[in-house]
Amino acid sequence: MSYRYRACPTATQVEGLALHCQHARYVWNLACEQQSYYAVAGRVSRPPNSASRCRQLAEARAEFDWLAAGSSSVQQQALRDWDQALRNWLTHRSHRRPSWRKAGRDEGCCVRDVHVRRLNRRWAAVFVPKVGWLRFRLSRPLPATTGMARITCDRAGRWQVSFTAAQPAVARESTGSAVGIDRGVAVTLATSDGQHHHMPHSGKADRKARTLAARMSRQRRGSHRRTATKQALAKLTARAADRRKDWVEKTSTRLVRAHDVIVFEDLRVTNMVRKPAAKPDPDNAAAFLPNRARAKAGLNRSIHRSCWGLLARRVEDKASASGVTVVTVNPAHSSTECRACGHTQPGNRESQTVFRCLACGHQAHADTHAAQVILARGLAAPRPPQDMGQDPPPGGSARGKPEPSVARTTRSQAAA
Ligand SMILES: [Zn+2]
Repeated sequence: MSYRYRACPTATQVEGLALHCQHARYVWNLACEQQSYYAVAGRVSRPPNSASRCRQLAEARAEFDWLAAGSSSVQQQALRDWDQALRNWLTHRSHRRPSWRKAGRDEGCCVRDVHVRRLNRRWAAVFVPKVGWLRFRLSRPLPATTGMARITCDRAGRWQVSFTAAQPAVARESTGSAVGIDRGVAVTLATSDGQHHHMPHSGKADRKARTLAARMSRQRRGSHRRTATKQALAKLTARAADRRKDWVEKTSTRLVRAHDVIVFEDLRVTNMVRKPAAKPDPDNAAAFLPNRARAKAGLNRSIHRSCWGLLARRVEDKASASGVTVVTVNPAHSSTECRACGHTQPGNRESQTVFRCLACGHQAHADTHAAQVILARGLAAPRPPQDMGQDPPPGGSARGKPEPSVARTTRSQAAA
């Protein structure tokens, strides 16, 4: 995990840091360009490896004064970062291919072997080559080791310093409880014990953002007024993102503290937020039929805003550091399968909130019911060897209801 702090650079330091970010971005984009040049079919030679790329950087620094004016360690680290990003993509650790960095959007650089100095109870400073000691606010204790510092500037113009360190364990005592979690849009997170958690969301801020975006669209590119509107919009969206991240951290800690086993659906969020395919009109070659792209875009926005992936990742990080088991199960038909009799039919879900089984009449809140189905699937799923010794812990209220058999669960999984 990263320990992030708000940095307060002086006006001179901002210039130096911005230059570091520019150089890092230039080197990264050049590596991208090389990779795509050699990836073209028919080229015989391969793209340069990381050692030859470092040599090329040294040659470029000898030739161009503007590049040599920057820090070589920052530029080399940008190359190493790019190599790591490419490795992550090739080994499927990341689904995103490293691509071009854009000025004003992806501003950041890395400093290796950092020196961190505590100034007082509230402030510390990190040494950045050619910039000096950069002060940052100690909003939380420093990690035990600070190997590398990443310095970033977001779109709202806030400078931040972050250090990577191991995730600390959540202070907790074993509760013996297991919980299933259903992630949704109307209810961000429903648990099998009947709780509903909602992502904080401000309609007022949304309206303000829409007004600002409309105003920006009317302003001339490059004008001072457009820059001011852009800044205001960036500040608004950054605050909303901060609120979401804060909610995810608090909710994931609460879940890990309260439960010994947490069951999630294995949602492929990337596949779920795809644009709908265009529908060609069979009668008119030049036209397309309506494909509800706008409605899907709205749904996608809500899915992105619900931070499903981030929530699952943070729960997994905290759980593995605290000895809590996380199980992921097949999500197929979890909202339409009956918990009591196993009957699966889309009509079982009467509305957004009501589940009523068409076979046995079992009725429940739809999201809570889906979370209970997920919990049952998770408890029936085979566990990794280290968990086999202990009995499945007794669940919350879901355990009071008849358990679906393993066979039924596997059948619904096979239906996927
Ligand atoms: Zn039923």
